[in-house]
Amino acid sequence: MAQYIDVLNPATGSSIGKVDNASVADCLRAVDVAADAFASWKATAPRARAEILRKAFEIMIAEQESLARTITLEMGKVLSDARAEVAYAAEFFRWFSEEAVRIDGDYRRAPSGANWLLVSRQPVGVALLATPWNFPAAMATRKIAPALAAGCTVVLKPAHDTPLTALAIADILHRAGAPEGVVNVVVADPPGPAVEAMLDSGKIRKLSFTGSTRVGSLLLAQAAKRIINCSMELGGNAPFIVFDDADIDLAVEGAMLAKMRNGGAACTAANRFYIHNSVLTEFTDKFTARMAALTLGDGLDPSTTLGPLVSRAQQERVTAAVSAAVSRGAKVLCGGAASTTPAFGYEATVLTNVSPTDEILQDEIFGPVASLVSFSDDAEMMRQANDVEHGLVSYVFTRDAARGMRTAELLETGMVGFNRGLVSDPAAPFGGVKASGIGREGGHDGLLAFLETKYVAGNW
Ligand code: NAD
Repeated sequence: MAQYIDVLNPATGSSIGKVDNASVADCLRAVDVAADAFASWKATAPRARAEILRKAFEIMIAEQESLARTITLEMGKVLSDARAEVAYAAEFFRWFSEEAVRIDGDYRRAPSGANWLLVSRQPVGVALLATPWNFPAAMATRKIAPALAAGCTVVLKPAHDTPLTALAIADILHRAGAPEGVVNVVVADPPGPAVEAMLDSGKIRKLSFTGSTRVGSLLLAQAAKRIINCSMELGGNAPFIVFDDADIDLAVEGAMLAKMRNGGAACTAANRFYIHNSVLTEFTDKFTARMAALTLGDGLDPSTTLGPLVSRAQQERVTAAVSAAVSRGAKVLCGGAASTTPAFGYEATVLTNVSPTDEILQDEIFGPVASLVSFSDDAEMMRQANDVEHGLVSYVFTRDAARGMRTAELLETGMVGFNRGLVSDPAAPFGGVKASGIGREGGHDGLLAFLETKYVAGNW
């Protein structure tokens, strides 16, 4: 195992820094430290916990620009997306600073009248948080903020491609007043043995994971051994549905957001575009013009509107998926090629003439590629929209509110964007069904994920 992890800039392919590569023993020490700090953090007044989170929000907003640069440097997204991510990430600190003082309970007489039912909530314990590279700030704060609000101490294990943002966030929390041991970060490559050892330490009571369905499934099996409480935010494969009565300009605007936020590297990214035949030409022309107008480049360059993918491997994956779809009859309307500058770039690409059964629709592409499928039969389109293993989010565009709500009810996803290409909101329950995960983050549900219910049956 290497002693250091080299952090690469995806725009140049060159190193921007090194971080210590945590050994299994280092990770277990971090768990011990978090376990030692738990009793006192749990006993800290909710208001005091809230004030620390509020302070972290303020520091993060004050330091938005430097954090955004760090995100762009290690992850590649354009600077405007990185700034938006920092603002979004900071909002989790603010939202959960408000939730920390709203941990409620219940007090009732038993239906039999024989006793009282007293229900309270307690922090679940030390939480292991594992996050992906695509939103290195927001995926960390979406877990740390509710955990700390609930009274849990944490060990964060960020993706090793993007550790600098995670370390910067831990530093912000320490400056905001988080006591020693409450927030710990370990960066480990390879991650597998480190995570498995921490889960098997007997001290982790909660696993909150965001990442691929494959790794999520693996970790659920490992967590089963010690019956660890799990929240899983996994992959998506979002359908984007444009009905014949949709406002097409609004749909194109929504499509740009749903597809291109984060350069297409979002679990919420629209992956399968189902466009009604009667509006196919208008939607395709307008959307393709917008996609073709994007400028691929280094995310730090102000003229860039599309940054590179995170790694060479991801670039090769997207390249292979597009060529395979083309070999099966898809037509490239714009883009369709990898770049050398930026090093790991891929052009904004629109594919049309994609068969509803094409392989490119089966799994998330995680890049700037939109596959358009036309439909004329609503019922058949809905069957196709639901006929995948994932169920994170879907998008629906129609001017008919009743039709939109009926469709939202039928879609097998945890979230629906209705005439909107963006659903993420710290105040809302974010999460998926089917292979997209278990549990919700954000909103009040996000807090409950780090709390256990304690019930006392009493007579007095
Ligand atoms: P990933 O599953 O490869 O990695 C996620 C995390 O798991 C990282 O911290 C990684 O180091 C760790 N990991 C990887 N292999 C591991 C192993 N064998 N044992 C233990 N830990 C391991 O995912 P990624 O490539 O970093 O991120 C992209 C994926 O994340 C996509 O599938 C995307 O849809 C998903 N995602 C989901 C959400 C959501 O909220 N549902 C949000 C963002 C990303």
